Amino acid sequence: MPNSSSDGGDDPQTVLVAVAWPYANNHLHHGHMAGAYLPADIFARYHRMRGDRTLMVSGSDSHGTPVTVRAEQEGVTPEEVFQRFHTSFLDTFERFGISFDLFTTTDTENHAEVSQDIFLRLLEQGYLYEAEQELLYDAKVKRFLPDRYVEGTCPHCGYDGARGDQCDDCGKTLDALELIDPRSKLSDAIPERRTSTHFFLKLSAFNDRLTEWVERQEHWRPAVRNFTLGMLREGLHDRAITRDIEWGVSVPLEGYEQKRLYVWFEAVIGYLAATKEWAVAQGGDPDLWEAWWKDESARTVYFQGKDNVPFHTTVWPAMLMGYGGLNVPSDVPANQYVTMSGSKASSSRNWALWMPDYLDRYDPDPLRYVLTAIMPETADSDFTWDQFLRRNNDELVARWGNLVNRVLSLTHRHFEGRVPAPPDELSAESRALLDRVDAAFEEVGGHIDAIRLRAALGAAMAVAQEGNRYIDARAPWVAVKEDRDHAAETLYTALNVISGLASLLQPFLPFTSPRAWEFVGQSGDIQAAGWRRSPVEGGAPLPEPAVLFKKLDKSIVEEEEARLGS
Ligand SMILES: [Zn+2]
Repeated sequence: MPNSSSDGGDDPQTVLVAVAWPYANNHLHHGHMAGAYLPADIFARYHRMRGDRTLMVSGSDSHGTPVTVRAEQEGVTPEEVFQRFHTSFLDTFERFGISFDLFTTTDTENHAEVSQDIFLRLLEQGYLYEAEQELLYDAKVKRFLPDRYVEGTCPHCGYDGARGDQCDDCGKTLDALELIDPRSKLSDAIPERRTSTHFFLKLSAFNDRLTEWVERQEHWRPAVRNFTLGMLREGLHDRAITRDIEWGVSVPLEGYEQKRLYVWFEAVIGYLAATKEWAVAQGGDPDLWEAWWKDESARTVYFQGKDNVPFHTTVWPAMLMGYGGLNVPSDVPANQYVTMSGSKASSSRNWALWMPDYLDRYDPDPLRYVLTAIMPETADSDFTWDQFLRRNNDELVARWGNLVNRVLSLTHRHFEGRVPAPPDELSAESRALLDRVDAAFEEVGGHIDAIRLRAALGAAMAVAQEGNRYIDARAPWVAVKEDRDHAAETLYTALNVISGLASLLQPFLPFTSPRAWEFVGQSGDIQAAGWRRSPVEGGAPLPEPAVLFKKLDKSIVEEEEARLGS
């Protein structure tokens, strides 16, 4: 069955990992990682290890008012702003191990062409129409004002700093025309109402098709499915998809030189545009993109935070249905939020763990581990430094790192740094543990495939715990003096457990897992070795091991908390 979330057996799948496009107006923080990038990366790495035809794409949203607002505040061009943060995103992804096949931007010629093609096709199919819209206009600077360029008093709660799109005090979304005493952020002028002609997307025409489609998506997260069905029950409204702005993709029609495609229409097209850009860059068949977009057996999975759900479960699917012949999303596993020490992440209050800062001070894998362990799959969760310290020291260092460390040091000390030869037949106890490791690939893989990443990580770490129990029970440091064969069997088995665990943990911990894998004598690419335990053979020489995870001092908790909000 196409588009199902089940494991799908051993036949290679074709999987598109489509990840939300961040506004290029600030650095990325922990919330972005837990919300979209890290779950997408774990999912993509797992599918690559399975040998599936996997493509992970996204890019910087270089248009949009968050970028132009920042540019005007700084007195620089929007290009300068988006390029600066696009560079920062690429750096963060590389240092944090977010393994995009392509992370592009919406400011490419290809993206403009693909967007304009979709616009023209929807127009031809009768899904776009022109209508007059009343908008706020700043006569002083002679410009129509995008929502975020207007401030005023919230009609719901009376807060006097509400923006034209949303009130930060009561959280309600607004139409700029609803603001009481509006003022332009560009000149402080009182904006006037003027009408302008715009193109509208006929979302109302898709209400029934979308409802019927979403009702069939029983594998979706209940929060995503119910929220979408609720919106559809209320009925979708047609929305303007053009704006009177200069920064963005041009409207491909004569007489519309002053207008641009609005960002919420244009940015979602990035998934398709990026796949096409990637295909061309491979240098062979430029139609390679069709495998993910036209072959109905392909899975297309969209990772994002919950605030982005409507665009991926209604707007983008409606655009794809209207265009025709392209795959609609198979799944939209949106995450809830990760708060920081009890409060919502906020750029303006500097209440966030900024990724460039984190990566300057710590290794990537501990944060990947902690964010996966608290991933907000069904409810908001909270990041605290205390928890970071505890999970690093008690779980990564004491459980997984310690297993690797003691097995390898005992092997080096007592067996000349070679894998001890196993007996002709392993004891039932050793055999059972290796069977348990091998069976974990199905269990952990099943969880990852269904995007239950907390459960997947928990299942892998449970294997590490069993490895430790096995070592504790057989005490090879004692046995080596009385029954060397017994100790040899224990270490041989444990080295095989570590080999399996390194592969099981590779999607989550891509920096330390290949090192653990090499410590037990493996060579080559751990990903290419596949989603299975690579056996460790008796007699193989082992390299000198090193520490996988650093134990952190509890003083970091106070230090890091002092940075918050300052
Ligand atoms: Zn309000």
